[in-house]
Amino acid sequence: MGSSTITPLQILKTYFGYDSFREGQEEIIDTILDGRDALAIMPTGAGKSLCYQVPALLLPGITLVVSPLISLMQDQVKSLNEAGIHAAYINSSLTEGQISKALSFAARGVYKIIYVAPERLETASFLAFALHTPISMVTVDEAHCISQWGQDFRPSYLKIVDFVRQLPGHPILSAFTATATEVVKNDIARILELKNPNIVITGFDRKNLYYRVEHLTGKQKDTFIANYIASHANESGIIYCATRKNVDTLYEQLLKQGVSVTRYHAGMNTEIRKESQDDFIYDRAQVVIATNAFGMGIDKSNVRFVIHYNMPQSMENYYQEAGRAGRDGEPAECILLFSPQDVMISKMLLGSKDFEGMDFTETEQVRHQDARRLQLMEGYCMTTSCLRNYILEYFGETTDQPCDNCGNCHQEFDEIDMTQDAKWVIGCITEMHGRYGQALVIGTLLGSKKARLRDIGATSYNCYGQLQNRTENELRLLISQMIRQGYVIQTDGEYSVLKVGNISELQKNTRILVKKFKEKEKISISKKRKASYKKSYFENENTSGSSNTASDSSSLNAAKKSDLFE
Ligand code: ADP
Ligand code: MG
Repeated sequence: MGSSTITPLQILKTYFGYDSFREGQEEIIDTILDGRDALAIMPTGAGKSLCYQVPALLLPGITLVVSPLISLMQDQVKSLNEAGIHAAYINSSLTEGQISKALSFAARGVYKIIYVAPERLETASFLAFALHTPISMVTVDEAHCISQWGQDFRPSYLKIVDFVRQLPGHPILSAFTATATEVVKNDIARILELKNPNIVITGFDRKNLYYRVEHLTGKQKDTFIANYIASHANESGIIYCATRKNVDTLYEQLLKQGVSVTRYHAGMNTEIRKESQDDFIYDRAQVVIATNAFGMGIDKSNVRFVIHYNMPQSMENYYQEAGRAGRDGEPAECILLFSPQDVMISKMLLGSKDFEGMDFTETEQVRHQDARRLQLMEGYCMTTSCLRNYILEYFGETTDQPCDNCGNCHQEFDEIDMTQDAKWVIGCITEMHGRYGQALVIGTLLGSKKARLRDIGATSYNCYGQLQNRTENELRLLISQMIRQGYVIQTDGEYSVLKVGNISELQKNTRILVKKFKEKEKISISKKRKASYKKSYFENENTSGSSNTASDSSSLNAAKKSDLFE
């Protein structure tokens, strides 16, 4: 291919069928074609793949793409091949024979783009190939995997740089991620030894996403979901749960209600899992219930809603998972169902995290960071101000106006005067000598009968039971507001405790007004509605004229059910 005459825009049109570049794409492509290293931080769905695929076709040699997941490589190679681009992947899904065949094709220049798992770079056969083949660029996709502060740390990503150092002819390095935090960004540039990289960061605002948080108990969550799916019967959606068990339970429930549903978690057999994923991607199932194992690299453009059944462990996770909605740019909803128990579940999951390959101090640091992230995630669930701004500020974008287009901006609030309650909170923290966390403070003030409170002597405090007329949620809202105002300090770390902050304003009798979501009508799903939902679902499917008829998908579900449970 004569690289001097063909432009990136022509490549875009000819191979990918798009008319124009999106924000950031052209700048990255030009950087690479100028021979300079690049680091692109762009939100999920922004179109990072094209940023390295387009220049790969214009560079003289091969582009190696380091990618963390087999399924991701397979999808990308498949769509490249369909676009008429010669690409291949080399990973453990191939036999040794297939790998040497692929490598010998590659050595003859058959492929322009080759996807590899990071572990592959450490093998002798791959290195031998790389030393004797002109490699123009090494691209690191999902580059946050290199950082211990990122959510998917992958130790073998640290070895990429050793591999690159051995290559003759200094290939260009480019790295891509959707994780925008300062630490992760710096880690990527430093560990990959990027040389004077052009760092391109595009906006994190996904304008077509409508964010919303609902405070609900476990049972209410189930009803909410049933109602929501019923009123969005033809729309594709993802429901994320914190645990595999949650996934299984909710899946069974929805199946019984006649919802066209599939599920995905790492505890499932690989083949069934792949099949479930495809059922969702190819619209044979309306909804997928999944753990966070689902989604990296999945490119399904028409996801209309992403519901989180539990609070995720960090805003990075939330942004990434919620960001799988509305990739086609059409309006989509991201709803987080929050209950105070979610915080406990998350803390438990944090504690049980496996830090293989890290020494003790590193592990402690990571735990500390994780706990901090969890606090900020909880902040998102508790805030009564603009949710979109909260997200943007988290990722370092400054915002001023509320968006007027999120659940909180549309929500009506009641304001309750909690000035006296605030004083009791301070009293309680003082009586506890700043040694305990939020749950025990709240339990004490509510006069809870938990054994733990007796054990620590809280039942004999002055403040014990003083706020028994309040609800747990009200006290959470109050304390989270007091933390924001600096009256209370929540320490970092795994066992975060509450301490008294600067209370001089409080002593001057400044009123504490807490915003509380207006009481909602009792959420319940009536029998009549259930029946009409079932009916409407079948009607919709039958009149759609597509090959995915209701009987297809329900027998598919029935088949799957028997696979898994009999
Ligand atoms: P990311 O890796 O940033 O999450 P992808 O590279 O998977 O995103 O791209 C997301 C979707 O956007 C894909 O379907 C891709 O084909 C599409 N896309 C990318 N660039 C453009 C463009 N310039 N015009 C239209 N669609 C695009
Ligand atoms: Mg990607």
